[in-house]
Amino acid sequence: MIISVVSGKGGAGKTTLAVSIAQVLGAEFYDLDVDAPNAEYFLQPEFDATTAVTQPVPLFDEDRCDACGLCTRECRFHALYKILKSVYLTETLCHGCGLCELVCPQQAISYQDASVGTIRSGTSQRLGNRVHVGDLKIGSTRGTYLIGELVKQIDPAKLSVIDGPPGNSCAAVAAIKPADLVVLVVEPTPFGFHDMLQTEQILQQLGKDYLIIANKALDSTDVEKHFTGREKRPVFTIPLDDRYHRANLAGDILSLNFSEIHSGLKTVLDGKIAS
Ligand code: SF4
Ligand code: SF4
Repeated sequence: MIISVVSGKGGAGKTTLAVSIAQVLGAEFYDLDVDAPNAEYFLQPEFDATTAVTQPVPLFDEDRCDACGLCTRECRFHALYKILKSVYLTETLCHGCGLCELVCPQQAISYQDASVGTIRSGTSQRLGNRVHVGDLKIGSTRGTYLIGELVKQIDPAKLSVIDGPPGNSCAAVAAIKPADLVVLVVEPTPFGFHDMLQTEQILQQLGKDYLIIANKALDSTDVEKHFTGREKRPVFTIPLDDRYHRANLAGDILSLNFSEIHSGLKTVLDGKIAS
């Protein structure tokens, strides 16, 4: 079973809860927040494997190319441009889709591998579970590709927790797609609720089973204010508590330090996993 932990708004506590959920369930951990992976500061893995991830990008044969410009017009990512009689590639915009090679009438395009990032794997010193981290190459726009490569490594027969990228971008969708269950972390504020509604649209379009956890709630009226009249409500609410905040800043795993967090997560997740 794969559980993806996501949040429309950054700073809602997604990673904080993802590591706690992995601890409570004894799950493998996949850090798919490839732009800024930082779950390792909680999990403290001892890394034992690093894999380079590459993606093919176009290479142009200037002797064959007649500068017709067809490839530059067809590339929907605007990764190609033509100056005089030469075609140039903005590598960070290329998604490696292969269309330019297909449309080129002169067979002037072949491919070469370009670095996208790395995948590091190790065992968490705190949990004893395997941890996998995607590190996107700085400046690369191919986070979705890197996430796809990480997802290929997930064994669906095992219990795995994904820490997805915040927001509602293509990368966030890529981290949601493999999930059997999504945990949507919402900060019950106008900003958090606004972004949560966008994430919910994605979840509903993908037909995903999901549950909501409200984090950093000032008080119960704060949650009520946003969820009154809605069918889908938080199954667990975590208050804005200075103790949690300090533990988080120290890199502690909340479910290890606070029994109420452990039991709250266990109750809602055990019920879902059993069903
Ligand atoms: S492979 Fe696709 S994205 Fe990359 S330059 Fe060619 S058409 Fe554009
Ligand atoms: S489609 Fe082929 S021939 Fe035309 S500009 Fe592109 S690389 Fe050159």
